[in-house]
Amino acid sequence: MKTLGYACTSAHAPLAPFSFERRAPRANDIVMEILYCGVCHSDLHWARNDWGWTVFPAIPGHEIVGRVIEIGPDVAKYKIGDYVAVGCMVDSCQHCDQCRKDEEQLCREGNTGTYGGFDRFTKEHTLGGYSKHLVVREEFVLRMPDGLDLAKAAPLLCAGITTYSPLKTWKAGPGSRVGVIGLGGLGHMAVKLAAGMGAHVTVLSRSPDKAEDARALGAAALLVSTDDDAMAKAANGFDLIIDTVPVKHDLNPYMPLLDVDGTLVIVGQIGPVAELSTVPLILGRRRIAGSPIGGIRETQEMLDFCAEKNILPDCEMIRMDEINEAFERMEKSDVRYRFVIDMASLQVG
Ligand code: NAP
Ligand code: ZN
Repeated sequence: MKTLGYACTSAHAPLAPFSFERRAPRANDIVMEILYCGVCHSDLHWARNDWGWTVFPAIPGHEIVGRVIEIGPDVAKYKIGDYVAVGCMVDSCQHCDQCRKDEEQLCREGNTGTYGGFDRFTKEHTLGGYSKHLVVREEFVLRMPDGLDLAKAAPLLCAGITTYSPLKTWKAGPGSRVGVIGLGGLGHMAVKLAAGMGAHVTVLSRSPDKAEDARALGAAALLVSTDDDAMAKAANGFDLIIDTVPVKHDLNPYMPLLDVDGTLVIVGQIGPVAELSTVPLILGRRRIAGSPIGGIRETQEMLDFCAEKNILPDCEMIRMDEINEAFERMEKSDVRYRFVIDMASLQVG
């Protein structure tokens, strides 16, 4: 089918309207009309080729909410008119040990990204959610729970699951002390979700002016990461720290904050970090880990958890043609806390 999106043709080009074809639905595919798409910092990394593997023309967008408008003959879970969502993956091998235990994000063959992947059958380059329509196999489609505000829910599909998954893996809950480095899209969801699980949450930020926001989001306090005295006083005070910083940074100041057996989980920057001292790791039996998004079962669990607890991202709605300005603002951390594109603003024809 013919559709319209916003694509960039090089790392230096702004995003601009782009007409393209979505594949005809296969037997187990749904076709969705995209209603809303969140703007993740990964979209910006992808558009600017920060990771060095962007395929152009590129259409970012992996926080997608929409409505089913067509289904293949074998689709069993969804019907036309259902409100559904798609996150960062659209396929995986479905038979390896990781896929069989609902951890498709860790598929041994590699999952197929919503953008920047390659369709497992046609080998075509996948194009993301800054567009009017999407064709996805039903196993990678999430059901929007009743009562969750569709216009605000889109960021749950990446920022939500990427922070929910490590909070579950490291068992955040009543009695646990959780730190969140960087109060942006992922960070503000980490705060809301950890607080919703009953943990004691502290934001670690460069920005003292976010202190009031941090408390409103559910944190007990904001610790300014450049305040050496405050950082020293917080030593040994955390069981789990989720690091959402999107650029190369120094982990050394954060390691002493972990208690014995505490873990710092990197979900932000992909690539080298500044030179790291192993002293606090060894002496305090502290750990550094990483975590990518989450599986489909866990993503549905997260959506249902958010519906039950009424947890929603703080969104600033934008039109599709405001995306370049939004990218510039996101680069300066000037968003509280997630841009969401209202796809009705993208008119075909
Ligand atoms: P974001 O909205 O831009 O937020 C990042 C936050 O990090 C900022 O609000 C800022 O918080 C802090 N920060 C920004 N620049 C910094 C710097 N130079 N030094 C220290 N702190 C800085 O980005 P996001 O959408 O949350 O994404 C964050 C990262 O996660 C990106 O790199 C993205 O690619 C990655 N990501 C990973 C996964 C995964 O599967 N693991 C999934 C989605 C996204 P303060 O002002 O509070 O310091
Ligand atoms: Zn993302």
